[in-house]
Amino acid sequence: MRPWDGFVRSEGLLIVVSGPSGVGKDAVLTEFAKIYPRARKCVTTTTREPRAGEAQGVDYTFVSEEEFRGRIDAGGFLEHAEFCGNLYGTPRQWVEERLREGMDVVLKIDVQGGLAVKTQMPSAVMIFLVPPSMEELERRLRNRLTDSDEAIAGRLVRARQEMEQIPHYDYIIENDAVAQAAEELKAVIIAEHCKLRR
Ligand code: 5GP
Repeated sequence: MRPWDGFVRSEGLLIVVSGPSGVGKDAVLTEFAKIYPRARKCVTTTTREPRAGEAQGVDYTFVSEEEFRGRIDAGGFLEHAEFCGNLYGTPRQWVEERLREGMDVVLKIDVQGGLAVKTQMPSAVMIFLVPPSMEELERRLRNRLTDSDEAIAGRLVRARQEMEQIPHYDYIIENDAVAQAAEELKAVIIAEHCKLRR
């Protein structure tokens, strides 16, 4: 046994990535996956119907409501939430197994879900992605061309509410340029791996 072995982390890190709708979480995480292959993105579970082009086990694990409720009762989720009449949850066993194997697990999850995960797993590394400005966030939401003015206004209100929870997070990364944000995320994770385990 080396004198420092007790301070070195052998298990993976649980990385919670939150940020307002439109900030570019998917783009940053796609880039991050290319430059940091040790991380695995968690596929969450839902009761909603698959949309066209979505695949079982890739976009979500699609299950019936009965199955989902059974898994809640069995303690199968790190956290779960209802959204627009459907249930969504983070599978506890999959996450714990990957962490034990030494893999880092990325959870792309809203603020509420992120805080619930932090309660369950206090060692989670909490990362909040922000846009360069609120004007830029609005511009990105409009560029999607998928939402009405009303829906965009609603998302901006929600964004401000979510940002009130930033003090519960460990790191803020600004997504001005995707490649740069992904590099910063990688730097944070590498530093977290070097941190003494106490
Ligand atoms: P959608 O149905 O559009 O794919 O997702 C609806 C919302 O549910 C999104 O905000 C998405 O981030 C969120 N969501 C997806 N999986 C989970 C989960 O496991 N837990 C929580 N709390 N939210 C989730």
